[in-house]
Amino acid sequence: MAGARRPGRNFLFVPGPTNVPDRILRAMHVAMEDHRSSDFPKLTLPLFEALKKVFKTKDGQAFIFPSSGTGAWESALTNTRAPGDKVLAPRFGQFSHLWIDLAKRHGLEVIVQDEEWGTGASPEHIEEALRADKNHDIKGVMVVHNETATGVTSDVAAVRRAMDAAKHPALLYVDGVSSIASLDFRMDDWGVDLAICGSQKGLMLPAGLGLVCASKKALAAMKADNCKRCYFDFTDHIKANATGYFPYTPAVPLLYGLREAFEILDEEGLDTVFARHHRLAGGTRAAVAAWGLKLCAKEPKWYSDTVSAIMVPAGINGAEVIDIAYKRYNLALGAGLSQVAGKLFRIGHLGDLNELMLLGGIAGAEMSMRDAGIEIELGSGVAAAQAHFRGAAQAKEKKVAAE
Ligand SMILES: *Cc1c(COP(=O)(O)O)cnc(C)c1O
Repeated sequence: MAGARRPGRNFLFVPGPTNVPDRILRAMHVAMEDHRSSDFPKLTLPLFEALKKVFKTKDGQAFIFPSSGTGAWESALTNTRAPGDKVLAPRFGQFSHLWIDLAKRHGLEVIVQDEEWGTGASPEHIEEALRADKNHDIKGVMVVHNETATGVTSDVAAVRRAMDAAKHPALLYVDGVSSIASLDFRMDDWGVDLAICGSQKGLMLPAGLGLVCASKKALAAMKADNCKRCYFDFTDHIKANATGYFPYTPAVPLLYGLREAFEILDEEGLDTVFARHHRLAGGTRAAVAAWGLKLCAKEPKWYSDTVSAIMVPAGINGAEVIDIAYKRYNLALGAGLSQVAGKLFRIGHLGDLNELMLLGGIAGAEMSMRDAGIEIELGSGVAAAQAHFRGAAQAKEKKVAAE
């Protein structure tokens, strides 16, 4: 229909799905093939090894499910927990809330630690609860590493230290869906027992793969009378994966995409990827400060390098900013969810993204905010982010020259 076309690129700044690099799109453009052929393991076996490298685990068992991140949550809990098991879970945003809901629906008894939205998991509160649990009834601690709804990153290493200080044997379950492959994540160093990821955020793929790594201790917690499961049963996957196959039809094009994503991450280098996310987040935060607005994250120690949740002034509806951005400027911003609906909008700055792309998103956010009646100065956020990026670029060149 004439007039319906929207020229140029959609500026995708929701914190997942993220931009899929052209290389990955091309890698996924394949004819269907027999996933039981003798050649198939040549594609799949290296994927499990590459996955472990990104999760930073040597001994972990890697799983690839055809599902979104929610399926990966479900697999981690149902394989290792039985109905009635107690688990401890801090809640400080929509994703920690949804994971707790999933655990409850599987019959787990969840001890919820409500933390203020804009803060994260409290190692002190976790240690206190675990010390009080003398009989070790608590079987697991569930932590969302990066709460995508509020732009808050929790300190998983500190949670592990708290668990060790309490000398508590509970398993550590970590949702790394919006952190793994964008923020520093170390499964083995942090003693994470079940690490969970999805394909559509830092891994730059479409949604459709649920990725999990399980520690030896997690595998030892697999019992016949744990929660009912079939599609997500670890045992079936371990058996089939050993020779490079799956218990049912895998999402083959996504596996080719995953291979390309690992290749891309390897070419840039994980540490460089983390540094880039830190730089992009710094520019975004500089823009927010220049606008005179506040982040949902209460203190710098909670700031997320993958997503910024920006509070709109009282009397303004954040959803209107998002709607204007989409309709007028072809810019997709993230919405406020549940408790913070209408109170904020989010800029996702993760995945295949660079400074100039982000400046486009920041410029569009400025125009949309002004259109929605927020009195910010046009260009102020863009200029602050530009200054941040220029400074970071020059510092990087100096560092390279000195080496
Ligand atoms: C995106 C996301 C999920 C998973 O959501 P799906 O829509 O099922 O892929 C889980 N946790 C966090 C923190 C997320 O950002």
